[in-house]
Amino acid sequence: MDLDAFAEGALFWIVSLVFLVAVSARLVFFILKIIMSSRGKESRWAYALPIYGRFLLPFHKGVPKKPLYAALRYVFHICLLAVPIWLAGHVSLWEMSRFEWSWRSLPSPWADGMTLVLLFIAAYFIVRRLVSSRLRPESSPWDFLVIIVAGLPFLTGYFLTHGTLEPIPLLADNMRLIHVLSGQAMILMAAFLFCRTRLNPKTCTGCASCELSCPTGTLESRDQGTLRIFSYSHYQCICCGACVHTCPEDAARLRHEVSFRQFFQVIPKQEIRSVDMKACRKCGALFVPEPLFDKIGRSFKDDYLFLCPNCRKTNVGEVYRKVAPR
Ligand code: SF4
Ligand code: SF4
Repeated sequence: MDLDAFAEGALFWIVSLVFLVAVSARLVFFILKIIMSSRGKESRWAYALPIYGRFLLPFHKGVPKKPLYAALRYVFHICLLAVPIWLAGHVSLWEMSRFEWSWRSLPSPWADGMTLVLLFIAAYFIVRRLVSSRLRPESSPWDFLVIIVAGLPFLTGYFLTHGTLEPIPLLADNMRLIHVLSGQAMILMAAFLFCRTRLNPKTCTGCASCELSCPTGTLESRDQGTLRIFSYSHYQCICCGACVHTCPEDAARLRHEVSFRQFFQVIPKQEIRSVDMKACRKCGALFVPEPLFDKIGRSFKDDYLFLCPNCRKTNVGEVYRKVAPR
């Protein structure tokens, strides 16, 4: 079988179909989850519509905190979408297809410029993860792979249109096939790529500030037994970054994750973190997450710390009765 013809024919249609079905299903799941989470609100649409609007502008809460990084992320994603759709070579392929679809294409210098900008930002994202003492320990091979798979079709497309690797016959002869396959790998990855909130167990104190800032209510905590359990649903998350922005410990993160399993986890929320709760020394009631208690205890020494709010009040009364003149 001719591999080039297969990659540009049957394989292309299979990948496109998988992408369309997966993205449509994810959109429906998201819309339904937000409608479900609007139950009990005074005006369900007044709650849901702004969330649908904010969904179109992910990471917007991180803009004031890191404006340059946020701008790079937006430019990267705009190039990622615009170049494949409006590249003249791609438009002419659609024109020659059985659909005979046609639309205006980007001028070549624009397409080249945007491709180079995207590749530069992708390289920056990789280097940043490698050199940053904060990011390196929490980066997984997936974090690098996602950037590489996203950038590869642009790199191979640039090589293909400019004949950059002509001196290497093996690569030059197969560059079109490599470009097509890398593009399809990116499309498949996009279908199952999730942006998920993570709470770093090494630094998270369980204070639940992130939960209070979450506009969709997808991040939830409940105290159960001796634990505070945080749960989350990615289909209800708009990746706004409010939790990241709010966290006093810099423990909340938005991470990209390619997962076929996550695709089917629609209804139940998943537990993403649990912390032990501290018991009051006097009445035994659980009243504060242990990591938060330890952190406060490092800078503030007082027996009152070991008491729950109720016992502190009664303790003040008892002390007062002992010392106050009759
Ligand atoms: S705000 Fe930060 S420290 Fe507090 S529970 Fe959320 S992730 Fe943990
Ligand atoms: S979990 Fe974080 S990123 Fe997701 S909607 Fe809530 S605040 Fe925004």
